[in-house]
Amino acid sequence: MRQIVAATGNAHKIQEIRAILDPLGIAVLGAAEAGGMPDVIEDGDSFAANAAKKAVEAARILNRCVLADDSGLEVFALGGEPGIYSARYAGEGGNDGRNVAKLLHRLEGETDRAARFVCVIALASPAGLVGTAEGEVRGRIIHQPKGGGGFGYDPVFVPEGFGQTFAELPGEVKNRLSHRGNALRNAVDGGLFARLPAAD
Ligand code: IMP
Repeated sequence: MRQIVAATGNAHKIQEIRAILDPLGIAVLGAAEAGGMPDVIEDGDSFAANAAKKAVEAARILNRCVLADDSGLEVFALGGEPGIYSARYAGEGGNDGRNVAKLLHRLEGETDRAARFVCVIALASPAGLVGTAEGEVRGRIIHQPKGGGGFGYDPVFVPEGFGQTFAELPGEVKNRLSHRGNALRNAVDGGLFARLPAAD
């Protein structure tokens, strides 16, 4: 089984990445199990730039093949906010609850609640970037958080074709529909994992 280190300190992301890649024969190790998550400053101007930077720097420091995920929510009526600032929408030291509260506040009185989650997966070896793959899922932002599963904006995001939020739907359903699932499947289908050096 091929093994790869996930360069993220977000336990929810690792759990989702594992659930999606394990059945495809790719074992995912958390960064903590591989020597610790290097501190990488996310100063890129796109999900792709941030994902690539995280993967390349972590692969060089850990001397392992690394997968990084950069993701976020884009609300069309807000011109794509919070976008690449999704994790720190309510400011440094904020948290998921405050980010959701700010989003609902910004959307007060807005009838167009259409949104999408975006995820870019980047793969890198110690020698550099192997490639990136993107995925999205479209849906809408509801008025009150619902459900106890998932993380981030899941309690206010209802995917297209469903009546429940990502935080209410079972994890398998989220993984089947999600931006992260789609990006990982695109990475597999695009042959990204096959391009990693054979030793790792
Ligand atoms: P990153 O760790 O810099 O990629 O920031 C990702 C942020 O986007 C998270 O902290 C969440 O706020 C949001 N996000 C990304 N993926 C998801 C998801 O699957 N569900 C809910 N929120 C997400």
